[in-house]
Amino acid sequence: GQKSFDAIVIGAGAAGLFCAAQAGQRGVKVLLVDHNERIAEKIRISGGGRANFTNRDLDVRAPQRHFIGDNPHFCRSALSRYAPQQFIDMVQRHGIAYHEKHKGQLFCDGSSQQIIDMLLAECRAGGVEHWQPCSVGAIGWSDGGGYRVETPRGAVRAPQLVIATGGLSIPQIGASDFGYRMAEQFGLRVVTPRPALVPLTFGGEGWAPYAGLAGLSLPVQIETGSKKERMHFLEDLLFTHRGLSGPAVLQISTYWRPGAPLTIDFAPGTDVAEALGEAKRQSRKRIANELAALVPSRLADAWAGEDAALQRPINEAADRALAALAERIARWQITPSGTEGYKKAEVTAGGVDTRDLSSQTMESKQPGLYFIGEVVDVTGWLGGYNFQWAWASAHACAEALSLK
Ligand code: FAD
Repeated sequence: GQKSFDAIVIGAGAAGLFCAAQAGQRGVKVLLVDHNERIAEKIRISGGGRANFTNRDLDVRAPQRHFIGDNPHFCRSALSRYAPQQFIDMVQRHGIAYHEKHKGQLFCDGSSQQIIDMLLAECRAGGVEHWQPCSVGAIGWSDGGGYRVETPRGAVRAPQLVIATGGLSIPQIGASDFGYRMAEQFGLRVVTPRPALVPLTFGGEGWAPYAGLAGLSLPVQIETGSKKERMHFLEDLLFTHRGLSGPAVLQISTYWRPGAPLTIDFAPGTDVAEALGEAKRQSRKRIANELAALVPSRLADAWAGEDAALQRPINEAADRALAALAERIARWQITPSGTEGYKKAEVTAGGVDTRDLSSQTMESKQPGLYFIGEVVDVTGWLGGYNFQWAWASAHACAEALSLK
């Protein structure tokens, strides 16, 4: 006969492993299935191999500030009921050493494998049955009630089915559109997925003058969006051969919409017009030299080098030319031609429409069918917020599974 479980979790990544473990430990009989050979590849490669597993700055009273989605408030319930500290406590219980790097970001001192091993141990403690690699075929109704899932090891059934198959980023390590297809199969809406936390490209001739800056990294303020939904970040920006990257650009990419410009301040906290005016009164150095006091000299050369009017001592420069230069340093406007796509994106924005999900339980309008983690239209900032969403949504779901 068919094997039966209380719940089947599809996708053994961050959210699926944690949900299966938590539900199992609450007495739910769980089967966890994943098609990939290797376990939790995204955790393994995350945070440069050290897994930025949560963020201490997440404010459980207003977590939505660090997340984006069509309904920014959807994430509040789960995130406020499962705080970063609860995950940190578990990390400590498992004796995993960690440190804070930057803006509340917590990383393993050792390796991300420790987080994977911890989650696997938690699954064992919950008696979770784990089939991997095991592909998932058709999903339908079981004669005995509940869902029926076809696998090469036979059909399995359960009254509750959890989809934790993640987003589309990094297709080479097991990402698939399975979750979105499942949503569609059961008549749930999907907000069109798009790459997020992704480098931005600037195709064509326009980028040529800046290609020589590849490798340069500097702190900037970066913004995008119309007045009403303006978003800005103060972080490092990295010039690459094809465009812009670094935390500032990854962060803003989630908010960027095709065709919209970015505005970049290369000397945040400095009044560049004022500083250049002052230099004009006091100095006879080349403009590029004066500029190099405000921004890295490679950038100063690239900017001043483009314009003949700026190739002279600053005390001879026209006020208008200096004002234009200040504007280009403090309010550089540039419109990306696109993104580096899912191959380079850390996450997928968009996903299963939260209008069709319960924010308390992650159950969809289709009774017994749940969606957790990145497959949902909730996307966090860079810095551990996406894992925290995976843990928190998994936790809310596991609690609900155990109450059925
Ligand atoms: P995933 O962890 O992607 O798990 C999905 C699982 O489902 C996978 O195991 C996959 O094999 C399986 N699956 C997919 N399709 C099927 C199918 N058809 N059948 C069966 N199984 C299937 N976030 C942070 O918070 N901090 C970081 O430091 C960080 N670093 C990152 C670095 C990189 C390079 C990348 C790509 C992402 C990073 N992220 C980071 C984002 C984070 O990894 C994800 O948001 C998180 O893993 C999402 O968890 P998930 O469980 O929803 O999906």
